[in-house]
Amino acid sequence: MKKSKTGKIARRPAKISNSSSPARSAKAPRVAAANGKAAGTSPQRVRAILQGLDEAYPSATCALEHQNPFQLLISTILSAQCTDERVNQVAKTLFPKYPTPQDFAHANPAEIEHEIRPTGFFRNKAKSILGTSKKIVEEFRGEVPRTMDELLTLPGVARKTANVVLGTAYGIAAGVVVDTHVTRLSNRLDLSRNTDPKKIEQDLMRILPQDRWILFSHQLIWHGRRVCQARKPRCAECNLESLCYSKDKTV
Ligand code: SF4
Repeated sequence: MKKSKTGKIARRPAKISNSSSPARSAKAPRVAAANGKAAGTSPQRVRAILQGLDEAYPSATCALEHQNPFQLLISTILSAQCTDERVNQVAKTLFPKYPTPQDFAHANPAEIEHEIRPTGFFRNKAKSILGTSKKIVEEFRGEVPRTMDELLTLPGVARKTANVVLGTAYGIAAGVVVDTHVTRLSNRLDLSRNTDPKKIEQDLMRILPQDRWILFSHQLIWHGRRVCQARKPRCAECNLESLCYSKDKTV
C-alpha cells in the first residue's frame, strides 16, 4: 500500500505546492518532491535563511525564565500546551516554594497540582515533575543530567524538552528543538517536508551546521511568534520574504 502510494505521488505532475502538505515526500529534504523539485535546502539558500535570521534576531534566546538547569527543565515540562508568559508567572511562586529537586521529590502531589493548575494538563504535568525530580535525586545525585540518553529516561521528558535543557542550560548542541513554531516555519521555509517533529529534527540536523542548532531554534521560535504567525503570517514585515515561496504567504 505504502509502496504503491509513494510510487504514484512520485509520478504525479506538478500539482502539489511548496507547503506543509502531508502529501509531501516523507523522506529527507533532498529527496525529490511531488512536483519533481527538491526541497529548498541547497547550502546557499540555507545560508541566506540563517543570515536573515541573524540579522533579525541576533540574540534570540529561550523565553522561559530560569536560574538553573533544573528550573528550566521544570518550566519546559510546564510549557506544553501553554504560553511561556503563563509558565513564567506560575514559576514565580512555584520555585521559591520548591527551590530544589529534593523539595519537588517530596512534595504533596495535590499541592503541586494546585500550584501549576493555570498551565493546563496539571495532573499529568505534576506527575511528570514529581517523577522527574525523584529520579534526579535518586539516580543523578540531584543534578539534571547532561546527555540526551539520560534525559530521555526522566518521566515526561522527550527530545524537545531534552534539547531545550541541553542547548539553553548547558550549551550542548545534541539536536534541534522542534516545537510548534519550528515545525510550521520549517515547512513554510521548505527546510523540511515532514510533519513529524522527530523527522523534522533529523532534516534540520542534516542541513544546518551543528554550531547553529541551538540558536536556530530560538530564532525560528521568535520569528514564528512575532512575524510568521500561524493564522496570518505578516509576510510584508518578513525579512525572509524573498526566500520564501510558501502557499501560506500573504503577499
Ligand atoms: S514570507 Fe511569510 S510565510 Fe514566509 S517566512 Fe516570512 S512570514 Fe512566514
